[in-house]
Amino acid sequence: MIIMQSDATKEQIDAVVTEIKKYGLRADVSRGAFRTVIGLVGDESKVPFDRFAILPGVKEARMVETPYKLISREYAKLSEEESEDRVIKVGNVEIGGDEPVFMAGPCAVESKAQLFKIAERVKKAGANVLRGGIFKPRTSVHSFQGLGGGSQEEAREALSWLRKAGDNFEMPVVTEIRGEGQVDMVAEYVDIIQIGARNMYDQDLLTQVARKRKPILYKRHFGAGIEEFLSFTEYMVAEDNKDIILCERGILPLGKGRSYSRYTLDLTAVPAIQKETYLPIIVDPSHAAGRRDLVFSLSCAGIAAGACGLLIEVHHNPVEALVDGQQMITPDELADVISTCRKIRKAIGHRRNNG
Ligand code: PEP
Ligand code: MN
Repeated sequence: MIIMQSDATKEQIDAVVTEIKKYGLRADVSRGAFRTVIGLVGDESKVPFDRFAILPGVKEARMVETPYKLISREYAKLSEEESEDRVIKVGNVEIGGDEPVFMAGPCAVESKAQLFKIAERVKKAGANVLRGGIFKPRTSVHSFQGLGGGSQEEAREALSWLRKAGDNFEMPVVTEIRGEGQVDMVAEYVDIIQIGARNMYDQDLLTQVARKRKPILYKRHFGAGIEEFLSFTEYMVAEDNKDIILCERGILPLGKGRSYSRYTLDLTAVPAIQKETYLPIIVDPSHAAGRRDLVFSLSCAGIAAGACGLLIEVHHNPVEALVDGQQMITPDELADVISTCRKIRKAIGHRRNNG
């Protein structure tokens, strides 16, 4: 990392960036209110920091060991630019702002009628963002793969319903991409691109999605530690896309735990991550629980832990759903979750980095 003097000129900053490139690295330039800090992106082990330290305009040059320095509060503080919590604006919705954000909708988009019915009702319940899976990651090849599992035309048709439902009911929309081949197409239709838990480690996919310059909903893998989750987040931010919404969705349960819930919601991760990074984090109680009767409690707990919002699966008639019916709540139940969570947020205030 290169910390420039507060009166460093543009030419001096450019000269440092040029020097960094000579070593085959990229530069992440944060121009703060008081000084510019340049992060090195790539393998820093062969960089002679003592040589950088004596370049004109440089205050300090040193190696930073943390694998996620670009998203860390500590690094952002140096430039006094992004030590503030990052608020991601999508249409009229602010993720990470004063109000908690509720993303809701079916696990999978199954038909235009199903999607529009649910969209109308989640909007009425107070949701801010509409979700709906079109490319579903499934364990079995024999189960419903989402409408994106068919032809390109079918995928586009389902994506266009999602776009229209979002426009119609005034909610930005989010859907998951499962592979690199879907990125271009999905980016044409949605406001937020979701990278699911199973793809958390796919660094080529992360890079490609980040280059679309759209907000990304990035879910933690169920076996990933916090450091791994944040380190892989860095791949997207290294592409100069800082609009990343992190999502805790449960980690593998211990022993007989699996008989009681699909995963274990790691609430500790919520405040722990918010102390490390200025990026917002939300909680997905639906996939964590795997059963609808736990969704209310986990939603309240997520907001109480300081999450910036929730991602909840909702269906007007969960028993007829083709995927994840057991964990979807109804729009009426969603209304109860949202009004209760808003009260909890009001009581505890907006605390992303308290203490
Ligand atoms: C989803 O949100 O639709 C999903 C499949 O979740 P996860 O990646 O967390 O399993
Ligand atoms: Mn689901």
